[in-house]
Amino acid sequence: MAGCADRGVCAGPGQRGERGSGQLSPGSSGLGDPYFPLAGNGGYDVANYSLHLGYDPGSKQLSGSALITATATQNLSRFDLDLRGFTISELTVNGSPATYERASGQELVITPSHGLRAGGSFTVSVAYSGVPQVVTDPDGSIEGWVPTADGAFVVGEPQGSPSWYPVNDNPQDKATFDFEVTVPEGLTVMANGVLVSNRSAGGRTTWVWRESDPMAPYLATATLGRFDLTVSQVGGIPSYIAIDPTLPSGNVFRKLPAIVEFYESIYGPYPFNAVGSVADNAPEVGYSLETQTKPVFDRMPDEATVAHELSHMWLGDSVTLSQWPDIWLHEGFATWSEWIWSEHNGQKSAQSYFDTLYNTPASKTSFWTPPPGDPGNAAHLFDGTIYNRGAMTVQALRQKVGDDTFFRIMRTWVQENRYGNVTTPQFIALAEKTSGMDLDHFFDVWLYRPEKPTSW
Ligand SMILES: [Zn+2]
Repeated sequence: MAGCADRGVCAGPGQRGERGSGQLSPGSSGLGDPYFPLAGNGGYDVANYSLHLGYDPGSKQLSGSALITATATQNLSRFDLDLRGFTISELTVNGSPATYERASGQELVITPSHGLRAGGSFTVSVAYSGVPQVVTDPDGSIEGWVPTADGAFVVGEPQGSPSWYPVNDNPQDKATFDFEVTVPEGLTVMANGVLVSNRSAGGRTTWVWRESDPMAPYLATATLGRFDLTVSQVGGIPSYIAIDPTLPSGNVFRKLPAIVEFYESIYGPYPFNAVGSVADNAPEVGYSLETQTKPVFDRMPDEATVAHELSHMWLGDSVTLSQWPDIWLHEGFATWSEWIWSEHNGQKSAQSYFDTLYNTPASKTSFWTPPPGDPGNAAHLFDGTIYNRGAMTVQALRQKVGDDTFFRIMRTWVQENRYGNVTTPQFIALAEKTSGMDLDHFFDVWLYRPEKPTSW
């Protein structure tokens, strides 16, 4: 195509309707997630984020320049990005200055000088600076760009990414990422994907990372600080292990190659172009996160936690929920993955984990409720029951259909949905199709009923 459609830009109002492609209209301010309705935006699909960041841990000042390449999915008169805080110094669309306003919460409303046509690609460039706001979630936990003693612990699940880069912050809009992060010399930046280069000049070092596989925006990281970085090869891809030297010694990450190999035997080939881990000293964060290709840990983790986060590479990062209430598809599966790693090593079996937890009396409602398939609201997204009863659901399915069928379901689930987005009904449909069984009652009592399951 040519002209207007070439870059998705129309020369002006005179061309409206010429191609019979309809009127321009604003993209929606959210994508209808039940818990985070303003997360993400309508009317376009991001292909790549190219983030150039500079950070000074002393002043906590972040200066950023984001170049976003996207395709319009409707004729757009204007569209939103998600960004929290910061002062914007320049914003262009296809290289031309665009008008913008900061609306409710995270909405950055952008009106390009020319409308954008459906199917055309366009670029947005945003220059911004300021001290990143730490985000407090409905469950009270913190996320985003969290300052540490020597840098920052950078995590974005479920809504922290807009606190460090302008983004279409919805797990359904996966994209590739390029990172170029400049920090004081002596600090290490750990972003997603493969390390392209690190160069020092004038007392500062620029770390360049590239994530060339599709990634949900919340899985991006640029965790930085003083780290001992070990680069090696695992299964033909680079492995990056970064450990904060202030952590107690002991290196659980020597198990990483065996864990990856084991999960490949269950779930199929490792989905990404790099692997690794980042152990930071940030216990105030209180959790670890499966940031794509290299999970970040807020302390030196135990082996089960390493296994949990690495299993998320298949279950959560490659195969990603479409909406946040389906979080058990990540956390129940990753917790079960801890159990099966233990079983594989001749330690406590998955069934034994199940039995121990199943002994919890029905009267202890905080253990059983909310049911994993229906957390109720965002404050319960990461409740223990999502993990424990979620993993019990997986193990109960294994009991119900038998090992052969069960492992076929798990592998098919991961392989058929590689790099995609999924829903709980899709998993139920796959389990029924593969087993040939009617599992409506089974999933109803395990996933959706608040009380302790007694027969299934
Ligand atoms: Zn997890």
